[in-house]
Amino acid sequence: MQAKKCLVLISGGLDSMLAAKLLIEQGIHVEGINFFTGFSGENPNLIENQNAIKLHSARWVAKQLAIKLHLIDVANDFKCVLFNPHFGYGANLNPCLDCKIFMVKKAFAYLQQNGFDFLVTGEVLGQRPMSQRKDTLPIVAKDTEDLLLRPLSAKLLAPTLPEREGWVDRKLLCDFNGRTRKPQIALAKKFGFQDFPQPAGGCELTDPVFTRRLKDLWQHRSSKEYSLDDIALLKTARHLRPRSNFKLIIGRDESDNVKLQKYQAQYISLLCVSYPGPIVLIDGTVNDDDINLAARLTAYFGKGRHDNAVLIKIKKPDAEEYNLTVKPISEQELLKNWYI
Ligand code: SF4
Repeated sequence: MQAKKCLVLISGGLDSMLAAKLLIEQGIHVEGINFFTGFSGENPNLIENQNAIKLHSARWVAKQLAIKLHLIDVANDFKCVLFNPHFGYGANLNPCLDCKIFMVKKAFAYLQQNGFDFLVTGEVLGQRPMSQRKDTLPIVAKDTEDLLLRPLSAKLLAPTLPEREGWVDRKLLCDFNGRTRKPQIALAKKFGFQDFPQPAGGCELTDPVFTRRLKDLWQHRSSKEYSLDDIALLKTARHLRPRSNFKLIIGRDESDNVKLQKYQAQYISLLCVSYPGPIVLIDGTVNDDDINLAARLTAYFGKGRHDNAVLIKIKKPDAEEYNLTVKPISEQELLKNWYI
């Protein structure tokens, strides 16, 4: 029989890595697919240097397994899933069940267009409260013509077409169930993986801080629209909203400052001149009094916090920069509820 070709959804987590490995061990031709949603996955448009692979990313996993990986940008289409999930959100803004359905549908279309025989995911029965329950796994598999195999829990599920047809030996698949990670760790060790990723993380939508910031953005723009730049900024730095008409994005360290620097052409930015300090961006529409408050906050987060007069440079896009001397805001004036 000619070796079958399967397409595995590679998230960068351990489960999909093991699922792929189980099939590689059976002599099946395996390739991976990873979707970039804006909040998870690898952005194919930003991968200029193929050697710069982040540890425990989808590309890293593919490299360990020596398989080809297809990176697909679905960030635009994913907006519909995020804005209006039919099955709702998880603990944060993560629409996991809708997201899984969306990704499996996309992967299945890719499979049909590219001559793969079946689809594989690293899903484990009972592992996730939303998308990996006994009653939700069939919802995810709907419309895949019985070609979706979950090798890690296959023995607990009805045999799929690839098993019934003998493309895959069901006896060599697993019966993992529930939230424990022990069987996965044991299997990783059995396969000789010295270094392996933790459970699939890396989705910003499961992060409570990121979720709070995204909700704040939507609320203050009166729209759920967002760009990839918005997401990049929400992941970076401190965010403070001292007044409802604007928020400040304040670098916490050199790495944040380097990222914020790239946005100085789009936002009003502030920088402490007389002391080392952060780059600060203003997001919103502001008047002179707002800028003065932003400058006092910029001074507070720099090394001149205890001085009475700190020089701050203000740079507006397409305008001359100017300096302001301000007194840093005091601990008492800085309100906790400004932090987003
Ligand atoms: S955590 Fe949920 S929303 Fe995020 S990528 Fe995974 S399934 Fe999708």
